[in-house]
Amino acid sequence: MSNTNASGEMVECPNLAGKPTLKAVASRKSILGNGLPIIRHLPSRDQRLIGPWCFLDHIGPTSLAADNGVDVGTHPHIGLQTVTWLFEGALLHKDSLGYKQEIRPGQLNLMTAGHGICHSEESPDGFSGPMHGLQFWIALPAEHEDTAPAFSHHTDLPQWNQDGADITLVVGELDGRRSPAQVFSPLVGADIVAKEACTLTLPVPAGFELGLCINEGRTDVDGETLQVGELYYLGCGRDSLTLTLDANSRVMLLGGEPLGQPVLLWWNFVGRDQERLEDAMADWEQFPNKRFGDVEAYQGKPLKAPSLDPSVRLK
Ligand code: MN
Repeated sequence: MSNTNASGEMVECPNLAGKPTLKAVASRKSILGNGLPIIRHLPSRDQRLIGPWCFLDHIGPTSLAADNGVDVGTHPHIGLQTVTWLFEGALLHKDSLGYKQEIRPGQLNLMTAGHGICHSEESPDGFSGPMHGLQFWIALPAEHEDTAPAFSHHTDLPQWNQDGADITLVVGELDGRRSPAQVFSPLVGADIVAKEACTLTLPVPAGFELGLCINEGRTDVDGETLQVGELYYLGCGRDSLTLTLDANSRVMLLGGEPLGQPVLLWWNFVGRDQERLEDAMADWEQFPNKRFGDVEAYQGKPLKAPSLDPSVRLK
């Protein structure tokens, strides 16, 4: 997806690593493209990062008509990975490396932007029906921010049942298991589903900053009831996490080691300094170009970057 924040504001993302805590992250509702409702959880004014996770859109739940599907035109990314994970529906990814990949629930699309890539995201031809899912961005550590762009699609992810909950390890590591998807710093992204009410305790690395995105049903943590459609920040310093899930509940556990470096996010770009982001903006204005290429399989127009006020400087 593309960041629709066109306020002209440069968002600085300081690291807010701390002790175990539990607080709701202030999120905002928005509409993407031609009417796709999303909740933008990250970045938030009071929570810029959770580990290396720097962006989180909760897509839907909604119902799409065949003539009003998702259509996010060609747009660029640098310095990050996008993680697309659906609960219901389908999306069609096309990118400047030539990949054209439909994604369905239970499958992972992982795009590594690195030095530069562009892509489009659409509903598959003729698709109609329920649409519900998540798209996250992972900030790449400085030593990997210029890595070569890549795309991978995963249909065989680690899955297990623990204390009655079905867990899928989408990216990273959890409880001695590891997702095959390539990531560049220690992190976790795990989908936890309870068909029946259950309580489970997961071992987690104490050095991981953690968050919980509540996607369906009711979940209790630390004696508090968490609300569906909200993201909660759990801090770090926990060596285990106990979740009490009602029947038909679904949560996403995300987090990782804090990057320990300042991270800047502007539109669809992540970097360590403003010049890097301005260079990417200048390159995108000269579309198509060698850095970002073109999505030849996408029929519509590329997205324009919001204008960047040259007087805006980061400290
Ligand atoms: Mn995108």
